[in-house]
Amino acid sequence: MTSTTLPTTDDLRARARTALDHIGAAVPEGSDFQARTPITGENLFGLTAATDADTEAAIAASRTAFLTWRTTPAPRRGELVRRLGELLRAHKSDLADLVTIEAGKIRSEALGEIQEMIDICDFAVGLSRQLYGRTIASERPGHRLAETWHPLGVVGVISAFNFPAAVWSWNTAVALVCGDTVIWKPSELTPLISLACDRLLDRAAEEVGAPRDVHRLLLGDRTVGEKLVDDARVALVSATGSTRMGREVGPRVAARFGRSLLELGGNNATIVAPSADLDLAIQGIVFAAAGTAGQRCTTLRRLIVHRDIADAVVERLTAAYRKLPIGDPFDETTLVGPLITTAALDAMNDALARVQAQGGKILAGGNRRLTEAAPSAAYTEPALVRVDEQTDVVREETFAPILYVLTYDTLDEAIALHNDVPQGLSSSIFTRDQQEAEIFLSAAGSDCGIANVNIGTSGAEIGGAFGGEKDTGGGRESGSDAWKAYMRSATNTINYSTELALAQGVSFL
Ligand code: NAD
Repeated sequence: MTSTTLPTTDDLRARARTALDHIGAAVPEGSDFQARTPITGENLFGLTAATDADTEAAIAASRTAFLTWRTTPAPRRGELVRRLGELLRAHKSDLADLVTIEAGKIRSEALGEIQEMIDICDFAVGLSRQLYGRTIASERPGHRLAETWHPLGVVGVISAFNFPAAVWSWNTAVALVCGDTVIWKPSELTPLISLACDRLLDRAAEEVGAPRDVHRLLLGDRTVGEKLVDDARVALVSATGSTRMGREVGPRVAARFGRSLLELGGNNATIVAPSADLDLAIQGIVFAAAGTAGQRCTTLRRLIVHRDIADAVVERLTAAYRKLPIGDPFDETTLVGPLITTAALDAMNDALARVQAQGGKILAGGNRRLTEAAPSAAYTEPALVRVDEQTDVVREETFAPILYVLTYDTLDEAIALHNDVPQGLSSSIFTRDQQEAEIFLSAAGSDCGIANVNIGTSGAEIGGAFGGEKDTGGGRESGSDAWKAYMRSATNTINYSTELALAQGVSFL
């Protein structure tokens, strides 16, 4: 199914303008780069990018603000994040409009992205009273050992197009309660939503009396990000995007002994065991593989199905894929919106051509849609491809809706296939066999940062730490104790005795 009508670019421009006006965000109009919409593939507004001087001023201001912010009591820092959460709630619909217009997400997923921002604000407000250090038993009489957590400094946040607002909030809400200041370089593909978020945080700061420069936004392409990467005043660079980007950013930050937190590409798989509840599995697979038009870092890209049930699973998936409604993401019946650019569609077609040359068979999908209605946009049917082996193309992340189906005979073989890719972000198993589920979750099971049972690979909650291993970069963001990446710890030894006892029984003088 394809909806044949799309909104016009003029409609979308007006809708974006209305949302930005409600939020009070000004658009720095200019000719450096374009805000565009994947819904029609056309430009919305010409924008001004940050200059080197703007970046320098932002880093200097952020560093100065840090000197005040780091000694503001953490629960008071939490008040800023609480107010941000309230403003996000009040503007949920406008913000979701901007996510749909710029990233092409269907309404329900765009609203979900803003809900995730509200959730992390709630989490961070609670965290502002829970930045706990430990007290450690000292080996010396009359001594106490303690661990203290202190703010780190300026945090540079570089974000990707596909979660244009949530990734910023995961970093920013937590960094702010930790006492850091933040400079955000969003994806050049999604500048409008970042202007809206920046304005709301600015308003929150004005209202609670926080320094204005606790947050700065720098629009522009990777060259702006590179300035943050190379500047020693930026204590932590939290960068979300492709593995290619992480390979460039990681060593550059390390070369100046800065810290980096890398959230990079995934090549996520689900194992479907013979005992799986197939109704549950099919639903979970289709959402994880075709949702967000295959443009989540946690998108399901490989399905590893037991040979005995492979035909049944493939038949049901093929039927589900043929019914997926594709088209205008504002249409409430659409489940698959556009890809971000025609370049993404070219990459998908290239991967499909290569996998066919390597023996893969397309079972469903893979055709371009709405070419006449929107020649500059990139609508496509999600593709389901059966492959006999995990060839090089299957082992790559193609950021588009392609699901490769592999078969297995033993769980050991399934886990080996599962882990035999460079990336290590998200994973899952559908099984009703508890032993299989536990093996999958064990040290000898999935090698990913996220491992699920009876649920798909995408759609994480903010309460857990989010991130992955290997080429995914190793970073952890969001919940659990991910906050520790945004602080520095100090070990304190306090002597409350009248003796100077040396550790390890050393005697001196
Ligand atoms: P991208 O790598 O093209 O760009 C991401 C950001 O990095 C952009 O802001 C870009 O301007 C900036 N950038 C690129 N090269 C840079 C450099 N050398 N120095 C500094 N900044 C640089 O990624 P994208 O196409 O926007 O997003 C899709 C990718 O992001 C996919 O690979 C996806 O899996 C990944 N992703 C990962 C996560 C995660 O949490 N693991 C989340 C979302 C997206």
